[in-house]
Amino acid sequence: PFDVLIVGGGPAGAASAIYTARKGLRVGVAAERFGGQVLDTMGIENFISVPYTEGPKLAAQFEAHVKDNDVDIMNLQRAEKLIPASQEGGLHEVVLANGGRLKARTIILSTGARWRQMGVPGEDEYRNKGVAYCPHCDGPLFKGKRVAVIGGGNSGVEAAIDLAGMVAHVMLIEYDSQLRADAVLQRKLASLPNVKIITSALTTRVNGDEKVTGLSYKDRNSGEEHDIELEGIFVQIGLVPNTEWLKDSIALTPRGEIEIDARGETSQPGIFAAGDATTVPYKQIVIAMGAGSTAGLSAFDYLIRLPER
Ligand code: FAD
Repeated sequence: PFDVLIVGGGPAGAASAIYTARKGLRVGVAAERFGGQVLDTMGIENFISVPYTEGPKLAAQFEAHVKDNDVDIMNLQRAEKLIPASQEGGLHEVVLANGGRLKARTIILSTGARWRQMGVPGEDEYRNKGVAYCPHCDGPLFKGKRVAVIGGGNSGVEAAIDLAGMVAHVMLIEYDSQLRADAVLQRKLASLPNVKIITSALTTRVNGDEKVTGLSYKDRNSGEEHDIELEGIFVQIGLVPNTEWLKDSIALTPRGEIEIDARGETSQPGIFAAGDATTVPYKQIVIAMGAGSTAGLSAFDYLIRLPER
């Protein structure tokens, strides 16, 4: 069995692997797609000490750094079930989609999250060419330009407030007849001169040539179609944690985030978690790496307290 089995090979999983392997532990990483969301990212400008890099390059560097250590990387492996140890100090088990079973004394869950997509024509085509999901990451790229934010929940309204400070104009588009964000955020938004709010609007397509040039939406009251010209679209209709497979084995919040404490421990002793799949506030690469390191050190602390076997 592994001392530490990490499920998920994004920045959180890579950091956990390096920290635990450097303790001389027997470490495995099972990942559906080693690199995670970083593989889908173009420019990265907030990876501290590296002013600019690109996702695929950074993901390859994560993999190379993990491989410098003695880590068993099992790529293209999807975990389907977690069976926690029946007694404290026993072996936990992870069942893979291919039927394989992996056993370990500690587990670190770092399966990340995915942005909910609108599912309209043009969205995929113009991803990273004007269609964006992360205002902290891509907001500054739209300095002085016109953008739309899709979604009037807390994350959409926060994004609109954030972007209004950088871009020329923000159009907030909400499907419902009213925004769902907290009242204080809505008041702040309403006070900003360069924001327009459109409710009861269904986005129907992303328009572009080489990059985004606009979007079309349908007014749900009148049924009329409208086209708006703009350069950027921030989709803020939800970040979904990849934790569906864990709901019977550990405590998740109603939104599906893995509940962790300050040390990264879950509701099950010996099972830790890190990164976008968890309750950690703010979902970012450097934050996931820090959390992965925390979970790795906590797994080590847990292991040195187990009785010899
Ligand atoms: P992820 O990167 O999501 O990795 C999850 C890992 O788990 C993957 O290997 C995945 O294949 C695997 N996995 C999932 N389910 C299973 C399963 N059942 N079994 C096995 N493996 C599984 N952040 C920044 O800091 N700066 C940026 O500029 C930036 N730009 C971004 C741009 C885009 C388009 C996107 C989508 C995100 C961006 N982010 C950015 C956010 C950043 O990518 C994430 O916060 C970070 O990757 C989270 O790391 P993670 O390790 O928690 O999860």
